Amino acid sequence: MNFAPGIVFHPDYTVPLPPGHRFPIGKFGRIRELLLADGAVQAHALRQPEPVSDAELGLAHDADYVRTIVTLALDKKAERRLGLPLSAALVRRGRAAVGGTVLTARLALEEGLACNIAGGSHHAFPGHGAGFCIFNDVAVAIAILRREGAFKRALVIDCDVHQGDGTAAFFKNDPDIFTFSVHCDANYPPAKEVSDLDIGVPMGTGDAVYLSVIKSHVAPLLDKVRPDIVFYNGGVDPHVDDKLGKLALSDRGLHARDDHVIDCCLRRGVPLACVVGGGYADDLDILARRHGTLHRAATAAFAARHGTPMTERKEMI
Ligand SMILES: [Zn+2]
Repeated sequence: MNFAPGIVFHPDYTVPLPPGHRFPIGKFGRIRELLLADGAVQAHALRQPEPVSDAELGLAHDADYVRTIVTLALDKKAERRLGLPLSAALVRRGRAAVGGTVLTARLALEEGLACNIAGGSHHAFPGHGAGFCIFNDVAVAIAILRREGAFKRALVIDCDVHQGDGTAAFFKNDPDIFTFSVHCDANYPPAKEVSDLDIGVPMGTGDAVYLSVIKSHVAPLLDKVRPDIVFYNGGVDPHVDDKLGKLALSDRGLHARDDHVIDCCLRRGVPLACVVGGGYADDLDILARRHGTLHRAATAAFAARHGTPMTERKEMI
């Protein structure tokens, strides 16, 4: 019996960017290192995904857009909107991250809960990238798995501080995918899309108000939508110290948020696929530790669910 949820990682999650680039791409490798160093995740729980193919990307994205990206033919204006200097390494990274969310969803369907150490590229639209997001991993994963008949209905719970505008656009006319975004109203993107449910909280919102929003919506939505799977974007950019966030959550607030979402899904037996989402800080150790909250919460909840105290896990494995 496996008492740890699958934690999905690929070495290509971190590829080089020009020095000083504001996207903290080094955080992904660091999340893995710190989780292992802390003993929060055992090496045997790590799973490596297969990068996705052009055809798989094309199940969700426009074929022209996929071709433009993989041939590195993006024009300067589109590259500015993306916010990343497109390169072969970034395309490789994009394929690995999407493959990671596909594997995370498969593991969630099989075992109940799994977490990617990347993913949550929710600003990518069917035909364009934006806001550091090349491919929309959740949208592609949904397209691949639905085509296989792995599930019918999904709920996307997007708690990154920025609205999940790309994801909303992918599924705006899809009755089987419910998109729920909790974000800072006064933050990027300037023009919001329409999710199935949007809650924009004001700048400076702290733990109490934010958690009351989460607690009053997650369980009722699960009961109303009755999804076959939940995709949870646990972005840590609502944290008070985040460079781009504009909200004021504490470490404890983020942890309580993750715990609540995980608990609501596990209690109902709804498979939960977690992706890391956004988080911005100069100190990668602080940032990676903040992101690791999600994986720690998932690992603890999974162990508790299977009746195995964390302290006994090493011996049993
Ligand atoms: Zn964000």
